[in-house]
Amino acid sequence: MGLPEVLERIARAAARAGRSADSVRLVAVTKGRTLEEIQRCVLAYGNFPLGESRVQEARPKMEALSGVEWHFIGPLQRNKVKFMRPFALVHSIDSVRLAQALARRAAREGWRARVLLQVNVAREPQKHGVFVEELADAVARVRELEALELVGLMTMAPYTERPEEVRWVFRELSRLADRYNLAERSMGMTGDFEVAVEEGATLVRVGRALFEEG
Ligand SMILES: *Cc1c(COP(=O)(O)O)cnc(C)c1O
Repeated sequence: MGLPEVLERIARAAARAGRSADSVRLVAVTKGRTLEEIQRCVLAYGNFPLGESRVQEARPKMEALSGVEWHFIGPLQRNKVKFMRPFALVHSIDSVRLAQALARRAAREGWRARVLLQVNVAREPQKHGVFVEELADAVARVRELEALELVGLMTMAPYTERPEEVRWVFRELSRLADRYNLAERSMGMTGDFEVAVEEGATLVRVGRALFEEG
């Protein structure tokens, strides 16, 4: 597909929902990609935020590419929170315990982490995130942590060939974000980002479509 077409599709999906294209940010997911691919397929088109899901893989890339806004999107172990400082946004806070660990680290070092709470809307056993019925409590407890700035919610929809089947997941995440007065909704990947934008995504995390032909 390529990045220009992804942007066009985001803009069209936003228009269908009566939203402006600039209410949606593309986070280019660069896990598993080389520096050369990142330059050619992403940064050649502009300075997009880059999403990485593994600390070990992200660190050398962060050293090599300057002036980039990095987002952490993958499962985060508590013993890795010490690596989060350079990330502008952590999408994948999947428990209150993890939030507390990150807050302790940030407080000790005198910085504030911007975070999203990951919600397992579809209750998939293999996916991370808090369940919907746990969210009120999780939001309240994360908001008590002064070293964290909770700015939104994130979800991953079940894998499907037919994105209409997961529209309800995105609609539910938007409803929850509204309910808790959270501005950011990180949802939508290569297979389902247009439906996610129609349902209110403010951040879409797209990888494969930027790098693969067809
Ligand atoms: C890999 C990944 C993506 C991007 O998936 P694509 O199918 O390559 O677009 C988005 N979000 C998370 C959390 C990921 O791990």
